[in-house]
Amino acid sequence: MPAVSTSETFPEIREAVRRLCARFPGPYWRALDRERAYPTEFVRALTEAGFLSVLIPEEYGGSGLGLAAGCAVLEEIHRSGGNGGACHAQMYTMGVVLRHGSPAQKAAYLPKIASGELRLQAFGVTEPDAGTDTTRITTFARTDGDTYVVNGRKLWISRAEHSDLMVLLCRTTPRDQAAKPSDGMSVLLVDMRQAVGNGLTITPVRTMLNHATTELAFEDLRVPTANLIGEEGKGFRYILDGMNAERILIAAECIGDAKFFIDRASAYAKDREVFGRPIGENQGVQFPIARAYVQMTAAEHMVRHAAALFEAGEPCGTEANMAKLAASEASWYAADVCLQTHGGFGFAEEFDIERKFRETRLYQVAPISTNLILSHVATHVLDLPKSF
Ligand SMILES: Cc1cc2nc3c(=O)[nH]c(=O)nc-3n(C[C@H](O)[C@H](O)[C@H](O)COP(=O)(O)OP(=O)(O)OC[C@H]3O[C@@H](n4cnc5c(N)ncnc54)[C@H](O)[C@@H]3O)c2cc1C
Repeated sequence: MPAVSTSETFPEIREAVRRLCARFPGPYWRALDRERAYPTEFVRALTEAGFLSVLIPEEYGGSGLGLAAGCAVLEEIHRSGGNGGACHAQMYTMGVVLRHGSPAQKAAYLPKIASGELRLQAFGVTEPDAGTDTTRITTFARTDGDTYVVNGRKLWISRAEHSDLMVLLCRTTPRDQAAKPSDGMSVLLVDMRQAVGNGLTITPVRTMLNHATTELAFEDLRVPTANLIGEEGKGFRYILDGMNAERILIAAECIGDAKFFIDRASAYAKDREVFGRPIGENQGVQFPIARAYVQMTAAEHMVRHAAALFEAGEPCGTEANMAKLAASEASWYAADVCLQTHGGFGFAEEFDIERKFRETRLYQVAPISTNLILSHVATHVLDLPKSF
């Protein structure tokens, strides 16, 4: 595409990520998608190149850059036709340890996460019976001497089989005994290498996209109390910080997806001849692509604005939500336009469009669904009456 982005942030990082991604082209992702296999080689290459530790401060072995650098990395992965969902969690889960962990925890974990010796890819929040209403989680950690004993279930926990550590949100006080519904939840850092088979069972869940997602069952899993992050009972607040980063980073992935679809649709519309001329000469074909570009560009500005607020330590919950909504709608519209532009070929696996189409649809549901963002804007920004 000539100039999808007029002023690219972090041009050197983007160029380096593009070069790395060129080693993992469509056939690589297609084969993994078919088998629902994890992109181990791709994640290793990203780790070794230092791209997964751009947000870790230099004193712990990372690059010490702000959230916008993480956005640039993930956007380029998605624009190239790949998928950062296999490893993006490390960027935002690491922040929970960085911002709320003790000096000893940071010294013990962050350098190893930065070097790739430890993978922190799993973020355990959602439960089968709690849904979006996180305060209803029931996975419970009770203290027994110097350990917590964890019981409960989590659902849709991605990358659990490919992670050494998991940031786990659980209740340490039952909801009806807490001062507020959002009190009484705590964050534990679970060492998956010790947990699996000793109270933690992981069951893969096959989905319409290759996302390595799983169900977790905890039966008397013992976690040292030393692995509590921050103060007991305040975990929900710690997780919210991480959620803003997660929404902004995932919005950047959506921007990358939208650019991928716009690139592909434009190229195909110029090339494909029907009725003796390129289909792109027809305004019925070019206008939807142009509209996708307009929507993507508007969303890209929103993502940059949200990232800048996050980096400045300003409140950014509303902006992170709006960026995620705008970007996920832009990528989904671009996906639909790209598929339509390709006619029947859009459905063929070898074009990678149907795969990316399935992948980008996720972002209107996870990590938070569109309705919940609209509800936030309606009640917190526009002061409309609450419906729940
Ligand atoms: C592939 C995949 C990977 C995931 N990875 C992770 C992960 O690694 N870690 C993790 O913790 N979670 C993960 N999730 C979970 C994800 O965050 C949730 O699916 C998402 O937050 C929505 O929750 P839910 O599925 O329980 O939907 P529900 O809360 O059951 O909602 C269902 C639908 O109803 C709508 N709805 C609900 N209440 C209202 C209301 N009051 N008003 C209007 N509409 C409403 C929602 O918008 C949604 O469309 C993943 C999910 C998927 C599918």
